[in-house]
Amino acid sequence: MKRFLYFFAFTSFLVGCENSNKNSETKISQQETFPDATDQVNFGIVIHGGAGSIREKNMSDSTKIAYAEKLEEAIRTGHEILKNGGTAVDAVRETINVMENSPLFNSGKGAVFAHDGTNQLDASIMDGKTLKAGAVAGVTTVKNPINLAFQVMVNSPHVMLYGDGAEEFAKLQGVELVDPSYFYTEDSYKALQRVKTAEKKKYKTEKTVFYNARIKDYKYGTVGAVALDKNGNLAAGTSTGGMTNKRWNRIGDSPIIGAGTYANNKTCAISCTGWGEYFIRGVAAYDVSAMMEYGGKSLQEAAEIVIHEKLPSVGGGGLIGIDSEGNMVAEFNTPGMFRAMMDEQGKLEIAMFEE
Ligand code: ASP
Repeated sequence: MKRFLYFFAFTSFLVGCENSNKNSETKISQQETFPDATDQVNFGIVIHGGAGSIREKNMSDSTKIAYAEKLEEAIRTGHEILKNGGTAVDAVRETINVMENSPLFNSGKGAVFAHDGTNQLDASIMDGKTLKAGAVAGVTTVKNPINLAFQVMVNSPHVMLYGDGAEEFAKLQGVELVDPSYFYTEDSYKALQRVKTAEKKKYKTEKTVFYNARIKDYKYGTVGAVALDKNGNLAAGTSTGGMTNKRWNRIGDSPIIGAGTYANNKTCAISCTGWGEYFIRGVAAYDVSAMMEYGGKSLQEAAEIVIHEKLPSVGGGGLIGIDSEGNMVAEFNTPGMFRAMMDEQGKLEIAMFEE
């Protein structure tokens, strides 16, 4: 079982970076005391910023710090909402907004490029109390796709909107739109060029071409959040640019309810990241919930089965989850996953690499 690795208080992390030894990795762990002991209500939040070949030896100290800081800002945003009695849905949405607005992740601002040089964004959100859900796919001008997915959930009779229609709905709902050039980042653009070059070498004809998702420098960074609020309600959300060099309007698991995102107050809230085709085929997020509901598994057991027994033979990635009692999980079968969790005590854990 891959366990969470902790950073110490951020200052220790910085010192750790200077000393730069293997055990200095990832650390932020801080404790705040709330709510009153007499008024203890379970709540919590878990986030991810993508899984893949994320290795400590390939990451500079300044990059590690940048990721750690952004993960901390994101999770504290959601935690504050939960602490003040806000809903799990709001905590998930606003936490994801922080990561969508950062170029570090493959979502919103930092979304990867498709083969044709556009950025096509996908997102979904689900409310575990009502089992309502909203999703959008292939949007190119929506600054924060998770906000549009939320609008689909609360202001439309549908679950999933795609492309131009989704953008038309965004205008009607007053969701913030941007020029497609907003999503340009040098990192993502260079990643597309590298993947295209590697692809040309490997495949001879257009017919057999398929983006090589396992290429070494593929950009990871789909983002997700799951939360339990003080009223016992769960929510999950996921937002992504998909996979570098994707073609033919490919849509991954992130906007598919049951595959990349699922929440049900009876069981858990789940957000997945990794090679989407395999998460779709495994109905991965719902599978965790189903094993809990019908098989009596705990969240941890179900997450381990999906990630370490069912997926490895077909595809790599990870998931985060929280159950209705506030148990939290972050499992992955790749070398790393950007992740953080924070409970009702304010205990914060941030990690990136495999133990
Ligand atoms: N699951 C996403 C997709 O396939 C990508 C990722 O999580 O890295 O679109």
